Amino acid sequence: MSTDPKTYEYADDVLKGRIILITGASDGIGRALAIHAATLGAQVILHGRNTKKLEAVYDEIEAIKGAACPSIAVLDLASADGDAYAALAKSIEDEFGRLDGLVHNASILGQRLSLEQYDAAEWQQVLHVNLTAAFVLTQQLFPALRNSDYPSIIFTSSGVGRVGKPFWGAYSVSKFGTESMSQIIAGENAHTNLRSNCINPGPVRTKMRLEAYPAEDRDALAKPEDILGSYIYLLGPDSRGVTGESFDI
Ligand code: NAP
Repeated sequence: MSTDPKTYEYADDVLKGRIILITGASDGIGRALAIHAATLGAQVILHGRNTKKLEAVYDEIEAIKGAACPSIAVLDLASADGDAYAALAKSIEDEFGRLDGLVHNASILGQRLSLEQYDAAEWQQVLHVNLTAAFVLTQQLFPALRNSDYPSIIFTSSGVGRVGKPFWGAYSVSKFGTESMSQIIAGENAHTNLRSNCINPGPVRTKMRLEAYPAEDRDALAKPEDILGSYIYLLGPDSRGVTGESFDI
């Protein structure tokens, strides 16, 4: 059985009983991951900002035979205040007593303009949603994560989080910050069972990708369902001890 994240093979119940929060679970990669994790036995907490879209994902999971009923957490990362994050963390602790997996997936793309032309307010919003919100959420969820036997945090990076890409402005900078935040958490928790890693999903057929590359042949791209092995690997038991890494799919 392969434990290489890219070709990872896993049992049908590899996430059985794991409590996993996925941000941006209403669409794209987050949505596909939430549904797949539920089929593998996880109790998923679906985070997003759009209740209707989250309810549609909820209904899909509820229809899966044997899947645990998911939870929905509505929180707009662009506007939520500290109390809202604290309330989310408290509701997870009250309902489940712990959190086994935290997948930071939600992001926005922002403008693709030179830094000379980049709008400062948009800069702030992209960094807030993609980076600061993930920091605040992680901070609030540390107590619940520490109640897990092998907690795993996954941050979602990008190729432009490794090499600064002209015209990708705040998005690229936010993904560099994401890589750094994951490494800092991994280092600060090296002597605990809490792990933190990054995944760069590569080009995937989602609305964000369409926004970034509107003229591209969509059919040539991987679907979100095709790229989930590394996520499952990092959320499950076979990656115990793996931390501070960054995986490219
Ligand atoms: P997507 O389809 O646009 O989905 C983004 C998710 O984030 C959606 O659920 C969206 O909610 C949510 N979100 C955005 N702003 C939010 C906010 N203010 N509050 C709460 N939720 C918010 O994007 P994706 O392609 O699946 O991307 C997922 C992750 O992969 C991102 O971190 C992205 O940077 C990364 N990535 C993607 C690619 C790619 O080719 N697709 C490549 C490299 C990295 P709504 O449904 O309400 O919009």
